[in-house]
Amino acid sequence: MLLIRCPYCETARPEVEFRHGGEALMERPRDPSRASDAEWIDYLYMRRNPKGPHAERWRHVHGCGRFFNCLRDTVSDRIVVTWRAGEPVPEVTDGDGA
Ligand SMILES: [Zn+2]
Repeated sequence: MLLIRCPYCETARPEVEFRHGGEALMERPRDPSRASDAEWIDYLYMRRNPKGPHAERWRHVHGCGRFFNCLRDTVSDRIVVTWRAGEPVPEVTDGDGA
């Protein structure tokens, strides 16, 4: 079982308290009315699905209820770092994690 550190509660809790919210750091077109159909489809449906570090949104549904960002390695399933929504991506040093 994964232990995920909620950046708001500042504790590592079991993954059953959380819900995955998809890819993080998606950039919404500035003016959706001017976006082409292809740009809008890319924004709504296309995701990177990388092998390795992946920025994701998670929600602490059985805790504080807040959304936050998480960098998770999709190969090892290791949580590298979590940070509050709206804050810059933290600098990752070896040993950071859940
Ligand atoms: Zn929390």
